[in-house]
Amino acid sequence: MSSSVETDQLLRFGQLIGGVEVPAVSGKTYRSLDPYTGTPWAEVPDGSKEDIDRAVEAARNALNGEWGRLTATARGKLLRNVGDIIAREADNLAELEVRDGGKLMREMSGQMKGLPEYYYYYAGLADKLEGSVVPTDKSNFLVYTTHEPVGVVGAITPWNSPLLLLTWKLAAGLAAGCTFVIKPSDHTPASTLAFGRLFDEAGFPPGVVNVITGWGPETGAALASHPGVDKIAFTGSTGTGIKVGQAAIENMTRFTLELGGKSAQVVFPDADLDAAANGVVAGIFAATGQTCLAGSRLLVHESVADELVAKVVDRASRIVIGDPKDPKTEMGPVSNEPQFQKVLSHFESARQQGATIAYGGEPVEELGGFFVKPTVLTNVTPDMRAVAEEVFGPVLAVSTFTEEDEAVTAANSTEFGLAGSVWTKDVYRAHRVAGQLRAGTVWVNAYRAVSPHVPFGGMGASGIGRENGIDAIKDFAETKAVWVELSGQTRDPFTLG
Ligand code: NAD
Repeated sequence: MSSSVETDQLLRFGQLIGGVEVPAVSGKTYRSLDPYTGTPWAEVPDGSKEDIDRAVEAARNALNGEWGRLTATARGKLLRNVGDIIAREADNLAELEVRDGGKLMREMSGQMKGLPEYYYYYAGLADKLEGSVVPTDKSNFLVYTTHEPVGVVGAITPWNSPLLLLTWKLAAGLAAGCTFVIKPSDHTPASTLAFGRLFDEAGFPPGVVNVITGWGPETGAALASHPGVDKIAFTGSTGTGIKVGQAAIENMTRFTLELGGKSAQVVFPDADLDAAANGVVAGIFAATGQTCLAGSRLLVHESVADELVAKVVDRASRIVIGDPKDPKTEMGPVSNEPQFQKVLSHFESARQQGATIAYGGEPVEELGGFFVKPTVLTNVTPDMRAVAEEVFGPVLAVSTFTEEDEAVTAANSTEFGLAGSVWTKDVYRAHRVAGQLRAGTVWVNAYRAVSPHVPFGGMGASGIGRENGIDAIKDFAETKAVWVELSGQTRDPFTLG
C-alpha cells in the first residue's frame, strides 16, 4: 500500500494490469470525492474499453500460464497469505473505504478485520472441490466428473461496501482457479486499487487480479460485454443488473447478480420490543441505510405498533450524526451527491403522497454536505414510492397488520426478495413465517448478520445466484463429465449410448 504518491494532498493511484500499475491508455484521470468534506481526495485512471481489453488479456494469460498450473492446494496457500496481509492492512484499508465512501470508521474497521476470514474459509475449500465417480445405467463405462475454473471473471462492484462485496466474489473465484478483472464503482475506486496490490505481495502470479477504474456505462459495460470474459459477478442496482445480464448473455457469458432489496421486518405482539426496536434501527439506520439488505419496511402488529414506533423514533432522534471517522458517530453522510438527491426526492414524494413523517424527512442543515436525518414514515400505503422502491438511504416505512397471513402477504408484496426478519418468541410461528417469506435470507429475532459460511443472495428482482458458503465455489467452476469406455468393443455407430 506504499506506492500511492501523495502530492497536493491528493492520493494518486494507477490501475492494475498484469501485476503492473499503469495509467489509463488515454492518460485520462478523474477525482474521487470524500463525501464528508465534499472535496477531492484521490485521483484514479479513467479507464476505457482499451484498458479493459488489456486487463482481460492479462487475466487470460495468467489462466493459461503459471496460475493455471498451480495445484488447488497451492491456491489455498496463496489465499491464506493474502488473508494474513489483509489482516495486517485492515486499518489502512478501512481508512481508504471511509475516505471514498463516507461510511463509519467503526463499521469499516470491523468489516476489514473480518475480511481475512473469507480468504481463510475459501483457502480451506480450494482443494476440496471434488469430482465424483458417477454410477450410470451403462455397464461398459466408467464416468467421473471434474470441476474446472470457469475462466476469466469480470467483477463489477457497488460503492456501499466495496471490498467486502468484492471479497464475496474474489475469495471463492480464486479458490476455484479463476482470474479476475475488477471494475469498482466510479464513486469508490481507490480502496480496490490499493487492495489489488496486496495480491502481488501475497505471491499471486501477475494477471490473476487486475483492476480497471472508470464509469459504469463505459468501462463497466465494456467488461460486461467483453467476449473474452467467461463469467460476470455483479453487485449493484437491479436496473444496472438487468443491463449487465443482457450484455453478458449476448456472448453466453455466465453471470450472477446481487441486486437491490426492500426487506421487511415483521414484528409480532409477543416479541421483545426493545430487541425488535434495536434490530429495526440496525436494519435501516446502520450505514445510513445504504445496504442492500436494509430492513426498509417495518410490518408491526397493530396492538404494539404505537409502542414500537415510539421506541424506534426515540432511538432515531438520539443517533449521533457526523464525522464518519469519529468513533462516537453512529450515522455518517449519504455516500455521494446523486444518492443524496435521491433520498431528498423520497422525502418530498412521501410528503406529497400523504405519509406521516414520524421523524426526520429532511437534511441535517447544520452539517451541510450530504447528511440526512434518520427518517420514520407512518400511515403509508403500498403504492407510495418510499414503500415500493429501494431508497438506499435511512428511510423506514411502517405499516400495521392484524393477522399473520396478512403480514406474510404484505412482506412478500414486492418485486424484491433479498432479506427479511421475524420478531416473535413463539418458536412455531418463527419457523412458519421464516419459511413463508420470499427472501434469500431471513433472520429470526436478529438483523444484519452475514458470514463467509452462509449463502447470501436474492430471489426475484434481488438477483440470480448466491455468494458465500460451500456452494459458491461451484459457481466459479464448470463441471465436466468424462466417459471412459471399458469393454474395448466396437459399438453400433447409429445408436445413442
Ligand atoms: P449501480 O448499479 O449504479 O452500480 C454498480 C456497478 O455497476 C458500479 O461499478 C457501476 O460503475 C457499474 N455500472 C453502472 N452502469 C453499468 C453498465 N451499464 N454496465 C456495467 N456496469 C455498470 O449500483 P450502486 O449505486 O453502485 O450500488 C447500490 C446498489 O447495489 C443498490 O441497489 C443495492 O441494493 C445494491 N447492492 C446489492 C447487494 C447484494 O449483495 N445484493 C450488496 C450491495 C449493494
